[in-house]
Amino acid sequence: MGGGEQKYVQEAFDTNWVAPLGPNVDNFEKSINQFLGGSSHVAALSSGTAAIHLALELLGVTRDDEVICQSFTFSASANPIMYLGATPILVDSEKDTWNISPKLLEGAIEDRIAKGKKPKAIVAVHLYGMPYKVREIAQISEKYGIPVVEDSAEALGSRFENQKCGTFGAIGILSFNGNKIITTSGGGALIAKDEATKNRAVFLATQARDDAPHYQHSSVGYNYRMSNILAGIGRGQMEVLQDRVDQRRFNYSFYKKHLGHLPQIEFLEEQDGYYSNRWLTCVLMPSFAIREKIRLALLEENVESRPLWKPMHLQPVFAEFPNYSDGTSEDLFNRGLCLPSGSNLSEKDLGRIVALILTKI
Ligand SMILES: *Cc1c(COP(=O)(O)O)cnc(C)c1O
Repeated sequence: MGGGEQKYVQEAFDTNWVAPLGPNVDNFEKSINQFLGGSSHVAALSSGTAAIHLALELLGVTRDDEVICQSFTFSASANPIMYLGATPILVDSEKDTWNISPKLLEGAIEDRIAKGKKPKAIVAVHLYGMPYKVREIAQISEKYGIPVVEDSAEALGSRFENQKCGTFGAIGILSFNGNKIITTSGGGALIAKDEATKNRAVFLATQARDDAPHYQHSSVGYNYRMSNILAGIGRGQMEVLQDRVDQRRFNYSFYKKHLGHLPQIEFLEEQDGYYSNRWLTCVLMPSFAIREKIRLALLEENVESRPLWKPMHLQPVFAEFPNYSDGTSEDLFNRGLCLPSGSNLSEKDLGRIVALILTKI
């Protein structure tokens, strides 16, 4: 926590705004919008997963539709496709950003159309805070008339050519889960391009109650709104967001400076015009065996590191669905390691981790 959170939570108690609406929710949404550049319409929700679910529903995804999803991601990018009874079509990554490959994406769209169904939406992800190929994906989205749900759960604070991540897709989403760059303990947001879409999201997120004195419903609703208590934490967190990004970027620079000269360790670089929040610092080792040797050596010293996300097309739960892969994300999964990346790591901590890796590599 950064300092201001308790003040806003106290305000909620003092004014008895203990509900999934109130001044903290309004102000949290305002401050997210301001941070993103001021022209979005933000709905604070109970989670990033809920935001993806609503985004897909708002884009008209229903039963038996096909939805393309970046395969190299956390399962929450793909699960909401299943909630809607739609079919996930999993697409592999390219090597520059580790995100959805424009080439494989276009191939997948052409193939799905040839097989009889145009995909209804594309879920693209800025994994580990690194923006996906924003321009190329937008071009494909436009060419085929398929909207992008921009999963920016890991990329609050990242940008491409001075435009903030979260504002590129037809609908963007953020997460404030406990492990993200800032947190409300649990929470998320949907970022819409217009007021009507935001209002529809809030309507669906608050049980889809029609305008009537009694409880009247003509749509299926959800209980997905953010609590005014948690939004108080969010307001305080927004005040330290750039500090958190600076801390995460410092972690990356430290690792790069002290390990970057090793031929066995490969870092994920920013492309031209890219600015990553460096949510996690991830590296590639020459082989699975060396990656495991390093991971286990760190673990022995009580230092937790983790393999990269296991691609969705390799997950038992999604194995039966079509995938368009060229082995890229499987290779990343086999050789990649997320190094300790907390915002509270000291230089001494980082130095100790680096020293451990240097003695074992
Ligand atoms: C965390 C995360 C989500 C889900 O957010 P929650 O708030 O945890 O529901 C979605 N996509 C990605 C890539 C994530 O890392």
